Amino acid sequence: MSVFNLITQNENLDNKIVAGLERLSQVFKVLLWEKAKEHSLSPIQIQLLIFIHNHTQEKSTVSYLAKEFNVTKPTISDAVRILEAKNMIEKSIDLNDSRSYTILLTQFGKRIVLETEDFPSPVTKIISQTSESDKEIIWKSISDLIIGLNKSQIVDIQRTCYNCKFYSQVGSEHFCDLLVMKLEDRDIRIDCPEFHDKSMAY
Ligand code: SF4
Repeated sequence: MSVFNLITQNENLDNKIVAGLERLSQVFKVLLWEKAKEHSLSPIQIQLLIFIHNHTQEKSTVSYLAKEFNVTKPTISDAVRILEAKNMIEKSIDLNDSRSYTILLTQFGKRIVLETEDFPSPVTKIISQTSESDKEIIWKSISDLIIGLNKSQIVDIQRTCYNCKFYSQVGSEHFCDLLVMKLEDRDIRIDCPEFHDKSMAY
């Protein structure tokens, strides 16, 4: 029975949690749309600017961004074309292959990031007022959910501890061999700048 059927939703905690998550996903969409309208951009264009600003240059390619945002390469190419026309990004052409490029933010693009990257702030404000113990429970639930969806191949997240070659587990304890530290639940990352894909040969 559908989680949106009010009888089965309200009689079952699983269904209420799923319906609540769906409601939250709408909140992020609305908040992003508000910022997008202010700057005459689309939500994906803002997401691209923020992602490029916060990740290394080798991740700023059309292929990587298409995978990251679960959209097609033509969708990313279209967004890139518009952002370039608005002088928010510039292309750095690969000297060995003139068809390939990485994307860099211009000074104007960086300014737009500063003005838009706080779009989730109403949510951040509420989370900041939550107790530390509740935050840890929320984070454990969210990270477990993301990992479960990743294992089901519904969401593609490469930069998480569980897929990292530096991650190890002994019993129920998690470790990062790069940072040489035990990872408590609160330390598990879903987007780590030091991540190395364990399935890749080095
Ligand atoms: S390097 Fe980063 S992603 Fe890898 S295990 Fe350590 S904290 Fe996690």
